[in-house]
Amino acid sequence: MRRLLLIFISMSMILSACKTTEENPFFVEWDTPFGSPPFHLIDEEHYIPAYEEGIRQHQAEIDAIVNNPEAPTFENTIVAYDQAGSLLRRISLVFGNLRGAETNPQLQEIARETTPLLSAHSNEISMNQDLFARIQTVYENRFEKNLNPEQLRVVEMYYRDFERNGAALPEEKREELARLRERMSMISLELGENMLAETNAFELILEDEDDLAGLPAGVVSAAAEAAERAGHEGKWLITLHNPSRLPFLQFSERRDLREKVLTAYGERGNNDNENDNKELFAELMQLRLQMARLLGFNNYAEYFLDIQMAENPDNVYDFLNQVWDPAVARAKRERDMKQAIIDREGGDFKLEAWDWWYYAEILRQERYDLDDDEVNPYFTIENVKRGNFMLANKLWGLTFEPRPEVPVYHEEVEVYEVFDNDGSHLAILFIDPHPRPGKRQGAWCGTYRSGGWEDGEWVSPIVTIVMNFSRPSGGKPAMLSWDETTTYFHEFGHAVHNFFAKGNFRRTSRSVPRDFVELPSQILENWAGEPELLKTYAIHYETGEPIPDELISRLRRAEHFNQGFINVEYLASAFLDMDWHTTDHGDDIDVIGFEEESMRRIGLPDEIIPRWRTTYFGHIFGPGYAAGYYVYRWAGVLDADAFMAFKESGDLFNQELAERFRYYILANNALYEGMEAYVSFRGQEPDIDHFLRQSGLK
Ligand SMILES: [Zn+2]
Repeated sequence: MRRLLLIFISMSMILSACKTTEENPFFVEWDTPFGSPPFHLIDEEHYIPAYEEGIRQHQAEIDAIVNNPEAPTFENTIVAYDQAGSLLRRISLVFGNLRGAETNPQLQEIARETTPLLSAHSNEISMNQDLFARIQTVYENRFEKNLNPEQLRVVEMYYRDFERNGAALPEEKREELARLRERMSMISLELGENMLAETNAFELILEDEDDLAGLPAGVVSAAAEAAERAGHEGKWLITLHNPSRLPFLQFSERRDLREKVLTAYGERGNNDNENDNKELFAELMQLRLQMARLLGFNNYAEYFLDIQMAENPDNVYDFLNQVWDPAVARAKRERDMKQAIIDREGGDFKLEAWDWWYYAEILRQERYDLDDDEVNPYFTIENVKRGNFMLANKLWGLTFEPRPEVPVYHEEVEVYEVFDNDGSHLAILFIDPHPRPGKRQGAWCGTYRSGGWEDGEWVSPIVTIVMNFSRPSGGKPAMLSWDETTTYFHEFGHAVHNFFAKGNFRRTSRSVPRDFVELPSQILENWAGEPELLKTYAIHYETGEPIPDELISRLRRAEHFNQGFINVEYLASAFLDMDWHTTDHGDDIDVIGFEEESMRRIGLPDEIIPRWRTTYFGHIFGPGYAAGYYVYRWAGVLDADAFMAFKESGDLFNQELAERFRYYILANNALYEGMEAYVSFRGQEPDIDHFLRQSGLK
């Protein structure tokens, strides 16, 4: 039956290739190195016909499952459903990744056109009563069929997916749910586009030398180069992107300009213009609440948390509060130290949010004698990349080879082939390091192809990590801040998770709860600052000398520096997210008023704004992290505790632990889930104390 299906698919592929566009690269096999996407052949005009065909094929595959005259079995229903939709997956991965990393007005237009189609398509599947009935039959008989644990789990996951999508509801409610979903997916899209437009819209053009007061040479030359790229030659340009905004806030002596930059940053999506996000966000909150209620939950957070490690909103609030109190106490001490500097300098003003980075930098230099010009030359982007590769080598024996022959979508993207410890091919890794106007803010990891079985053959993953790191400037290599350095290790950790994922079914092979997924990424950040690893990658780009012990010890003394602020701005957003998703807002939502009230309730100090305010809180625009922004600190407890296992063993690169971590946490998510996986690795549940101490909160 599966063979027939394949013939049917390939026939329809040929037919549609003739009737749509003749050379649409999505309709032919990719004859590229490692079968990676042929970016040089893909044009904007290819997407819509490819999407239409992908949807049609997927629907035909679903119909074939439903119309199968044989009784539902694990093979003819679950396996067939798991494998269906390969063309659509291929297009969606390319399009989705490019829309984040290298978008343009045409791609945005295509997204607006295809989003409703895709949403309708997935609604049609998730509400398909005949399909659900077959899955339900397999589910109900699952214990009588000699299924192995992985097969059992995939059956249970699919059944749960359909239930959570409303397949078990009466028809009228199913239709309502479909309407809600379609509208929500459009809103998510628009919120994200508005945020990108608002981020790109701001330009602070510095006209003369006075405006540059306090800025180090590297920041000045980066600003001059940015101005030149934007057509303001001979001037200096500051934007809202991290590599521009953050050093400006840190060093600029011009308090008025700092205020201008931070205010513009904090008001994105709240300017009552065509990119305003308030009304859209309010509507999204109403729709999510309606959806949750239709599905039998009191609010959206309950719905989301039902399948996470945290289980329910009370547990999340309890956890956040445990970290909040010591974090606020610490942030207030940090604030007072900054105010003391202002007073000492005769500043006669109260510290404000736009002063925080500036006085933090002064404090850092005074207390720890740390100067970026001394530290940064050890952390060139090449060095940090090498540090990542070295770590993966020391822990798991991986090696990396550049593959310049693989096509890329932008000249700045680098490609590596990844080899396993026995020398066999493991994966392909794309690295896209620097900001561009078409790139979304932040840093992330994605896949162009996930590892999996196709027709009895293992197909390796093609993974991408995308960042917004400082560029080379002033003739010097790109040098990364400490924050950028740890971000590199973080995204690389997600990539490693993708390299190792095993499993026989798409649904379960990389499926982990949202509050587990940051463990593989965050744990690598721990190694970044360990002297044993630093010595191997932090090499001065001019002198060739490894970072000296004395500088390492100054860096380590500063480990807890600013942790009050970092935790408070993060936790403020985590509370805000939870508050939005646990409240019945009624019909009339005052977005900014709600946010202010929420921040008043937790006692957010005036001098700190949440890391993400509502109108640019990209994490919660889509369903991925909505009611789930807490997961980073939640996973922080896991990663601090897991790293402690290595420390306690007396060997940071303990091979037995690394192997257990690979097996239970990274490779076999199809067999072990959440806490079960963690305890299998660690032998016990995590202890929050390691996390609090590591963050200087205890
Ligand atoms: Zn992450």
